[in-house]
Amino acid sequence: MSAGPGQGRALTELPGLGPRMAERLERLGVRSQEELLFHLPHRYQDRTRIRAIGSLAPDEEAGCRATVRAAETVGRRRPMYVVRVADGTGFLTLRFFQVRDYLKQTLRPGRGVWFFGSVRRGHHGLEMVHPEFEAGDEAPAPPNHLTPVYPLTEGLTQGRLRSWIGHALDRAAAGLPEQLPEAVRAEHGWPTLAQALEAVHRPLPDTEPQALAEFRTPAQQRLAFEELLAHHLALRKVGDDRRRSGAPALDGPGRLPGALLADLPFELTGAQARAWEQIRADLAGERPMQRLVQGDVGSGKTVVAALAMLQAVEAGYQAAFMAPTEILAEQHAATLADWLTPLGVEVHFLVGSMGQAERRARTEAIANGAARVVVGTHALFQEDVRFAALGLAVIDEQHRFGVHQRMALKEKGGAPHLLIMTATPIPRTLAMTAFADLEGTVIDELPPGRQPVETVGISDARREEVEARIRAAVAEGQQAYWVCPLVEESEALQLEAATATHERLQAAFPELSVGLVHGRMAAAEKEAAMAAFKRGASHLLVATPVIEVGVDVPNATLMVIEHAERMGLAQLHQLRGRVGRGSRKSACVLLYHPPLTDRAKRRIAAMRETGDGFRIAQVDLELRGPGEVLGTRQTGLEQMRIADLGRDRGLIAGLASAAETLLASDPEAAQGLIRRWVGERAVYGEVG
Ligand code: ADP
Ligand code: MG
Repeated sequence: MSAGPGQGRALTELPGLGPRMAERLERLGVRSQEELLFHLPHRYQDRTRIRAIGSLAPDEEAGCRATVRAAETVGRRRPMYVVRVADGTGFLTLRFFQVRDYLKQTLRPGRGVWFFGSVRRGHHGLEMVHPEFEAGDEAPAPPNHLTPVYPLTEGLTQGRLRSWIGHALDRAAAGLPEQLPEAVRAEHGWPTLAQALEAVHRPLPDTEPQALAEFRTPAQQRLAFEELLAHHLALRKVGDDRRRSGAPALDGPGRLPGALLADLPFELTGAQARAWEQIRADLAGERPMQRLVQGDVGSGKTVVAALAMLQAVEAGYQAAFMAPTEILAEQHAATLADWLTPLGVEVHFLVGSMGQAERRARTEAIANGAARVVVGTHALFQEDVRFAALGLAVIDEQHRFGVHQRMALKEKGGAPHLLIMTATPIPRTLAMTAFADLEGTVIDELPPGRQPVETVGISDARREEVEARIRAAVAEGQQAYWVCPLVEESEALQLEAATATHERLQAAFPELSVGLVHGRMAAAEKEAAMAAFKRGASHLLVATPVIEVGVDVPNATLMVIEHAERMGLAQLHQLRGRVGRGSRKSACVLLYHPPLTDRAKRRIAAMRETGDGFRIAQVDLELRGPGEVLGTRQTGLEQMRIADLGRDRGLIAGLASAAETLLASDPEAAQGLIRRWVGERAVYGEVG
């Protein structure tokens, strides 16, 4: 989120809010009073009701009025102040872990007290630990709305944030322009923006708690819709701008692509041929291509990209191919070099870990046009890289290549044609939001002769069986991968797991050569390990789960995944896709550590039952729920403030028509929405 700090009233106008606090709020993405209004509560407390102690149950939050019956300091080493209160319906213990004079003075027997906190079961019946309280015989007037609880950051208290947001509501909310068309609001029964903000920060006591918790109230839905609409509009704008800007027409006679097709040891599948036809037609046009190619692991997307790159080269332009990791970039560079060098087209390489001198030489070749085809990581699109004449950018396996990055391509010289490739099936709802500016192609056919990968789940108590399988495969001249356990907590631990696994396996197979690749390795080392495996010099390759996408060694026929129960379905499917690439029967062993959770069981079962990426994605969606699968982080969408693509997916269907209505009736408001939710620069199609 990057609304310009210039818009809106300064935070420091609010009472008691100084520059230091303003800085803390900025950590929450809040830079003005208006933005403060969009900092929504993540839950609510009901302080409007005074509850009878006798009606309390563990794990609920409640406020009560009672009289202090007894109070004492207990424990010597770590003293606590313990207060017994009663309201005629029952007794409750209030427990404070610090004994303060102030507590002793206020909470003494005989005094009336109002308190609010969460109820738990203690040794002597129900209790509250550190409740909020106010002592005195006058009960504080209960608020007339539910109390919001906001996400905080260090150094910021709930009470102060509440009071500032309250002030901002009173001052700024009414001045916010209403940008959702009346017709759209009426259609869904949604309140105005000002009403919606009031209702989310100060919900009426009779608001249905379940609806609030699930973000289903009209006020919440309206705000989420507004944000989704703003992103949708921003994407349309990116798409429209790109379509308007001219791209080089890459329309040579097709001599180079033809030569590659003639050289390949295989024929394109029907699906590959169709994808290539579409892409060729796009490239020949003067509008920049914006195409997303979805094809399951192993469906042969790389060769389609190679054809497109040759088309660009033939027309006198450069082509760039970006892979998500250095290992993959190296692999692709090698594959592409095999295909293109015989045609007289040199393949250049650029990654972040290169030395200065080498990097300078590469960027120079890219800038003066000597490099026609460049393969690399995101380093390719960093600021200091200037292309002489970039005609085509291929983005491989990164559906996270976000909108802002797509926009940034423009700055790499004109508007190159753009080809994004992914093995991750993208649900329609997501396609309509995160990819509203792209056209889609599906490669729904695997090259012939592929045999389904036999998949088994084996408890790690039966490790010897797995080791026997590895020996058998190697004895037949085949190779195997061993993916070591996923360690999410830290990269250092992940590294340790990888080296330990490598040592253990090398000891278990003294007669074999066991290789190792992991994310922390120097590029040259990785390259050497991959190259050794590719030419068969190592038999077994131990890898961290980073080999996830794209690695291609057809002679590898066995994939062992350790602690498979820790991995998600999508990842398992990607990993399995590394085998079954040649014509020989391949197998995938999911080694798990029992006992398995229900979900892990279902994941392993799904892997055994099907090899179809779309089917796997479906099961994944069922198991994890769309929130996790479609979480904004994975989508390449800017982080959203309020909306959640999973939770709010029901709103997505209405976006396109609301966008039409708004663009037709009030284009200014459309700009305003983009500015409010996506940021100032997105309005002008700039990025940084
Ligand atoms: P992905 O779609 O997962 O990126 P790749 O492009 O890596 O798949 O292709 C997987 C393997 O299939 C590679 O070894 C590639 O050379 C081979 N391949 C691609 N197309 C065909 C085809 N039409 N017939 C036979 N093999 C093919
Ligand atoms: Mg690939």
